[in-house]
Amino acid sequence: MTASTFTTIFLAAVALTLALELWLAARHIAHVRRHRDAVPAAFAGRIGVDAHRKAADYTVARTRLAIASSIAGTILLVALTRGRGVAFLTGLTGLAGTSPLLQDLLLVVAVALVAALVSLPFSAYATFAIEARYGFNRTTPRTWLADLAKGALVAALLGLPLAALLIALVRWAGDLWWLWAWVAWIGFQLLLFVLYPTLIAPLFNTFTPMPEGPLRTRIEALLARCGFASRGLWLMDGSRRSSHGNAYFTGLGRAKRIVMFDTLVARLSPEETEAVLAHELGHYKLAHIAKRLAWSAAASLAVFALLAWLMRSDWFYTGLYVPASPDRPGVALVLFFLVLPVFTFLLAPLASWYSRRHEYEADAFAAKHASAGAMVSALVRLYEDNAATLTPDPLHSAFHDSHPPAGLRIARLEALVRVPASSAVPEGA
Ligand SMILES: [Zn+2]
Repeated sequence: MTASTFTTIFLAAVALTLALELWLAARHIAHVRRHRDAVPAAFAGRIGVDAHRKAADYTVARTRLAIASSIAGTILLVALTRGRGVAFLTGLTGLAGTSPLLQDLLLVVAVALVAALVSLPFSAYATFAIEARYGFNRTTPRTWLADLAKGALVAALLGLPLAALLIALVRWAGDLWWLWAWVAWIGFQLLLFVLYPTLIAPLFNTFTPMPEGPLRTRIEALLARCGFASRGLWLMDGSRRSSHGNAYFTGLGRAKRIVMFDTLVARLSPEETEAVLAHELGHYKLAHIAKRLAWSAAASLAVFALLAWLMRSDWFYTGLYVPASPDRPGVALVLFFLVLPVFTFLLAPLASWYSRRHEYEADAFAAKHASAGAMVSALVRLYEDNAATLTPDPLHSAFHDSHPPAGLRIARLEALVRVPASSAVPEGA
């Protein structure tokens, strides 16, 4: 391939991705607005028209911000490539000291900083304008800045050694460096599974063991029923930052824990909380987490093999307006991770479809081991509390949503309420 052919393909992919994103966002806004004044029949009597309108306005505001953010991201990408930004930063960091490894690390840091600076205003606007306007934000500028500093520190402590290791492998591990890099990457992912619950998450939130009481008893019974061993049930002070509620499982093997946001427990009844946890438990029991890890391992192997091939091709550098730099692996690394999303955007519906299939399966698990009726009422309350739209544009949803649209999800659960799944329904849904 010649450099100019690659430039043409790249710029066409950039334009296509942006056009597709803008078109999907415009469709989404138009669809949500068209349904703003009528609560869908399935939710009539359960969600009021004011809450429905609030969800529509909130969705429109967030989608508009996503449009602005996509445009800014595209401008940055074009500035770094066609505008020779990476070439400039490569030259600049090449002046620092004599160690090529250090020069490469500086380049990675410089590009990451530029990207962070561009995305920062959008993140601040989302929190202090949109989330605040709709009554969700509880973060103070002070907490927000502290989070930013801690996030940067964690990214540096974890990211710099990883980048240094990758660059060192390219330099010294020979032609099969990408296989070693892949092994290192998998190891890094596993390390994160252990570090996240024990060291990283506690930097941002306070975790307390779930207090004794009816809810804890109920959840422990659920875990025993499903044969799930865990290192504990924790409450997290999610209310420090936002009123959005959530629950998640974290950790690996016997060290796994269940974390519930205080905001979730405060809003849901014990029966509803149990159903939500049964859903999360379903993701574990049905091996969704393991399958996802396996897919991501396979995908990253392909990604590293592709990177190794591109790194040896002059057109990859010159097509992106950077002088071919075989002695600076950091340059190829930076270019590769900048342009990769442009070529993978069309795969987004596939990933979303796979994830939505798992959501249906986890819902069915919750219906079987807890209660389908409680799962429905929990979802309705969560949709309302989080101002999540009930009427997404179907195509936008197919691309972007990891969870099925509210209507479809609840319809499936209600079919399970009507036909209770044998004796496995303990609460008599
Ligand atoms: Zn789920």
